[in-house]
Amino acid sequence: MIDTHAHLDMLKSEEDIKESVERLNAIITIGCDKEEIYKAVEFANRYTNVYASVGYHPYDVKGLSDEDIQVLKDLAVKNSKVVAIGETGLDYYRDITPKNIQWEFFEKQLNLAKELNLPVVIHSRSANEDTIEILKNHSPLPAGGVMHCFGGDIPMMEKSVELGFYISFAGNITYPKADNLRKVAKATPIDRLLLETDSPFLSPQKKRGKPNKPTNIFYTLEFVANLLGIPTQQLEGITDSNAKKLFRLQ
Ligand SMILES: [Zn+2]
Ligand SMILES: [Zn+2]
Repeated sequence: MIDTHAHLDMLKSEEDIKESVERLNAIITIGCDKEEIYKAVEFANRYTNVYASVGYHPYDVKGLSDEDIQVLKDLAVKNSKVVAIGETGLDYYRDITPKNIQWEFFEKQLNLAKELNLPVVIHSRSANEDTIEILKNHSPLPAGGVMHCFGGDIPMMEKSVELGFYISFAGNITYPKADNLRKVAKATPIDRLLLETDSPFLSPQKKRGKPNKPTNIFYTLEFVANLLGIPTQQLEGITDSNAKKLFRLQ
């Protein structure tokens, strides 16, 4: 099983990291600020089955310059385990970074992903219309990407799929109030479906209240398999092969 989105550097427990690396086939760890990008690459270079995505989260783009984009480029060029750019995108949920700065660095990271021919990991919260608008303006993205921790509706999912994106669901799909997400998951073409934990955030319902860890992906896998009415192993095979295709894992 592959966890397509975790923040290993934010996990407090060494034991959780060890267990996750041992039990999962692969983990994509995300570095999404000036310090985390180095930590993500470090994890990827330490464990054969860990890969890194490097970028700047919309909450962390204030004060960045073109040099910081160059840093991403250098990391990606020098480390073969860097498999994606991001997470990047837009987040209007909290008023942390002015919109125009979010747009600017979102676009710069999309251009970088194009230049490097790498997939892009998109974070979009309370900003779905603008996210799609910007992605449209920058498409086609040669290596595609993923809408991580998808939180949109069916039309948003359809537009994302049309633009060549995968749709990734996190542990919050198991929450009692997440009927809308479950509807979207059922409507998502299965060859575009991914699963992630977003550890240490969004523990699935059965582990809610505790910090999340990549091995909890199995709870989400089982839940989504039941939701879609297919055997767990079959869904694992499908989402893993989708992940391998997108991130070009061996
Ligand atoms: Zn995110
Ligand atoms: Zn994340």
